[in-house]
Amino acid sequence: MKPVIIKSHILSFFNEIVHGISTRVGSVNDSNFNLGINSNSNKEVIYNNRKIFFKTLNINENLVVYQQQVHSNRYQLVEAPGFIKENDALITVQENLFLIVTIADCIPILFYDKSNRITGAIHAGWRGTYSKIVLNTIEFAISKLSLDINNTYFYFGPSICANCFEVDEDVANLFEPRFVKKKNQKFTVDLQQINLQYLLDLGIKKNNIQISKLCTFELNQLLHSYRRDKEKSGRMFGVIGIRK
Ligand SMILES: [Zn+2]
Repeated sequence: MKPVIIKSHILSFFNEIVHGISTRVGSVNDSNFNLGINSNSNKEVIYNNRKIFFKTLNINENLVVYQQQVHSNRYQLVEAPGFIKENDALITVQENLFLIVTIADCIPILFYDKSNRITGAIHAGWRGTYSKIVLNTIEFAISKLSLDINNTYFYFGPSICANCFEVDEDVANLFEPRFVKKKNQKFTVDLQQINLQYLLDLGIKKNNIQISKLCTFELNQLLHSYRRDKEKSGRMFGVIGIRK
């Protein structure tokens, strides 16, 4: 059995693009399929799971860029495989370079500019959303790489949905009231809509953006969720790259 990998329809139009989001469903009856190194699982198991994930997508593991995500608004233009420290968005104009975003509730945002052949992978949780990582990254790509907003396609992968993402008042107050709802003694924040709004404000068309409706918190058989499983939670990978 092959692992279940989620694909977007919006990026699937492009044959040159390889992309996907891993799930909890791996091979060999592994009900966890954890790809994250910072969690409690056995490292050997994780490295093996990564191998299986990349093999399923026919990606050479030596052509991958990882990042040490810290919920910042920092992005990096990358030209070679490796590991980028303290960073939450990767962008490249290279072919055969596969960008990784690690997730378990935060939004993985994958994008592709078909005119300029730019790819990117962004990690946006509430801190990254508040500090405008998406806006910073795409503004950089527009000004320095001439990203073509009319020909760039975005996929927001599975993340915790607006109804499940409960926060206290201090966090809720960081965001515009139109994205916040009161829920019992707590508040909920719609991070997907906030990030969507950043893109719309830049002039990107709604039709060029696909937002997954899969909620990491609710779909406990399919997806990892840090909120739900706490320290026991595994991590999923989102990946994007152009195949030469
Ligand atoms: Zn939900």
